[in-house]
Amino acid sequence: MDRWGPARPAHRQADVDTGPGVTDTRRTTAGRPGADAAGPRGAAGVESAHRAVGVGGARGAVGVGGGRAVVEVWWARVGAARDGFVGDLDSVERGRLAAYVREVDRARFLLGVTITRRALGRRFSLLAASVSLDRTCTECGKPHGKVRAEGVELSVTHSGDLVGVAFGERPVGLDVEKVDAGVDVDGVARVALSADDVRALAEYDGIAKARAFTAYWTRREAVLKATGEGLRGELRGPVPAGIQVQELDVGADHRAALAVVSAEPPVVRIEDATQLLS
Ligand SMILES: [Zn+2]
Repeated sequence: MDRWGPARPAHRQADVDTGPGVTDTRRTTAGRPGADAAGPRGAAGVESAHRAVGVGGARGAVGVGGGRAVVEVWWARVGAARDGFVGDLDSVERGRLAAYVREVDRARFLLGVTITRRALGRRFSLLAASVSLDRTCTECGKPHGKVRAEGVELSVTHSGDLVGVAFGERPVGLDVEKVDAGVDVDGVARVALSADDVRALAEYDGIAKARAFTAYWTRREAVLKATGEGLRGELRGPVPAGIQVQELDVGADHRAALAVVSAEPPVVRIEDATQLLS
């Protein structure tokens, strides 16, 4: 139930996700959760060219991109974390890693950083440890802000068994949440979602309801991560123009969504991060 804890400081857009338990009363209708997330469905009626492969599956190469934004999404399972990855981290990252109490939190953070560094290292022909990442908080200057890198937009997410990192040339937001069958959907939805959204969720029962709520939540978080905190207060209606959001299939136990600031649906490439971690 750790995902349902208190929110981080309001100004802090770290690469650590908030969970659905964040009681943000500002509502959004960033998309209706479906009965399942087997097919990427944009809340803005986006039809993705890509049908996500499962986590750990083969490369999900998609069709020709044309002029569309291309987003790479790398997934790994928490069990892939190895102590040796610490060698790629800088001093700020090592400090943060050391601050985690629970092993699983350490593993999630370590994997997020390692995937980020190794994927960027590959992209820019650099050693992973030489990749320059900036986590300066835009509000207080401490190194707990959203992670940034020169020349590429990225978004890190982790929950349950999964860690994901999205890279693109346009601002991206990636969010994964483990479906918690025991969550009080009605209770959380009542404080976090609009009355319409609560009514939509009422059509579901049991685990389907938990999945629908989680799908809703990940889309909302993905949009917020893509647009930054600045839009948080305005995200009360449909997904704003110029933002594409779609669900990614990550299996029955989790829900995931990807948002991209783009006029057109992006070309999404799903990558198995195992190839970076061996
Ligand atoms: Zn700060």
